[in-house]
Amino acid sequence: MGQHVTHWIGGKTWDGKAGRTGRLHDPATGEVTGEVDFAGTTEVDLAVEGAAAAGAQWSASSLAQRSQVLFGFRQLLVERRGELAASISAEHGKTLADADGEVARGLEVVELACGISHLLKGDFSEGVSRGVDTYSLRQPLGVVCGITPFNFPVMVPLWMFPLAVACGNAFVLKPSEKDPSASLLLAEAAADAGLPPGVLQVVHGDAGAVDALLDHPGVAAVSFVGSTPVARHVAQRAAAAGKRVQALGGAKNHMVVLPDADLEAAADAAVSAGFGSAGERCMAISVVVAVGGVGDALVAKIAERMGSLRVGPASDPDAEMGPLITSEHRDRVAGYLDSAPAEGARLVVDGRRHEPTVPGRGYFLGPSLLDGVGPQMAAYRDEIFGPVLSVVRVDDLEEALELVNANPYGNGAALFTNDGAAARRFQHEVTAGMVGINVAIPVPVATFPFGGWKQSLFGDTHVYGTDGVRFYTRNKVVTARWPGPRGGERSGVQLGFPGR
Ligand code: NAD
Repeated sequence: MGQHVTHWIGGKTWDGKAGRTGRLHDPATGEVTGEVDFAGTTEVDLAVEGAAAAGAQWSASSLAQRSQVLFGFRQLLVERRGELAASISAEHGKTLADADGEVARGLEVVELACGISHLLKGDFSEGVSRGVDTYSLRQPLGVVCGITPFNFPVMVPLWMFPLAVACGNAFVLKPSEKDPSASLLLAEAAADAGLPPGVLQVVHGDAGAVDALLDHPGVAAVSFVGSTPVARHVAQRAAAAGKRVQALGGAKNHMVVLPDADLEAAADAAVSAGFGSAGERCMAISVVVAVGGVGDALVAKIAERMGSLRVGPASDPDAEMGPLITSEHRDRVAGYLDSAPAEGARLVVDGRRHEPTVPGRGYFLGPSLLDGVGPQMAAYRDEIFGPVLSVVRVDDLEEALELVNANPYGNGAALFTNDGAAARRFQHEVTAGMVGINVAIPVPVATFPFGGWKQSLFGDTHVYGTDGVRFYTRNKVVTARWPGPRGGERSGVQLGFPGR
């Protein structure tokens, strides 16, 4: 029955016997393409114990050695970019160009990690007291794990493990069970680049594998990216077990369009950010907030662009949008095209009528546009995570900010305007972690951290950038005195705090 995907433990494919398994599908055809082993506590124990042993050696490697491995890893990813993109498209369904873009964004973080010698530098203060110096070190945590979502099977793992291993940790990755194959290509490339066996382990599975990792006493920290309910669960369970945790959740990203904006550019951006990757991006725009009298013209321009979008499988080189991840998800998303009109919205474009370029049983749903959506409607409240764009109309920037800030999600928010003062106010007042000004998908480059606010992130730090290094290391501060000619006098016995 097609391909068989299993764990990567100790630098090679696991050869044990699996208990439970899951099915793999091609979303473009609906066909079953293989199966994936699901780890239980036995496999998770094996992966964590192996990682602990390998990590103890790896943490003693020099920064120069680690950089060498990461430079090699980067080179192999560049050489294998086509293979990685093809694997993403085969299991996720996104177009090849989109998959290639995902690899490119992941590569940025690998490139950041190549400079680990610079990122791990501590601080030094000479002479904090007479003859006393204070300095800080950043040391690895031990075994850390990453649990990742289906929508970026290469990029999100690359947000995590390159920096984690560069910092001297060992890493256990639990990728999405819906598109697990690309994670093995990453592990293979890391091994080929010289990452010692065990420093990067991959265990596949569902909630059972995740909970085994969250409860494992050998795991020091957990990075999670996925939906809000699971992010909350992961944050609570990992914290209860005394682990450091960063859990990035779902999103409902708003794009506010002011009357003075370039409406052509705003409509282009709304369509690109709303329907790229079939809306299955955490930074997708799902709500357009039309301010003042801009609604009619904006809706018309967006609808006009949607008609010509080509929906099809990744094997169609001209396709711009692929299928959704599962048939259940496609049906759930399509459900909003009934519920929103029943609650008073206007269905301007019905994606159910948009035929894909190949007929069949793939999980396709064309792009849809809802106008006159209100904050009480399910289409507004829920994270749809599909190709449905909702337009909410408000009177002014004040009202737009109130709407965005009242939303429980706070991943990203964008403003389209030509007014610098309005942009400045928006960036200051909006309660979202990533803000776009005339940019609809404000995904920061790897030298800045990525993460949301409110229910889009549980934990203290964002991922990658300097936050990634902080998350994967702990601070140690040394205060040292070396007696000698310039080391100050002996203070003798002194029971109080030393004065200045
Ligand atoms: P998901 O929450 O269903 O799954 C994420 C991971 O958690 C997977 O590895 C899955 O196996 C595991 N998991 C699922 N249910 C679990 C449970 N009950 N207990 C323990 N583990 C469980 O998310 P998904 O559908 O794979 O991905 C889409 C979601 O991810 C969307 O909500 C999207 O907004 C979010 N996302 C957020 C970001 C971000 O940066 N904030 C980035 C990408 C995706």
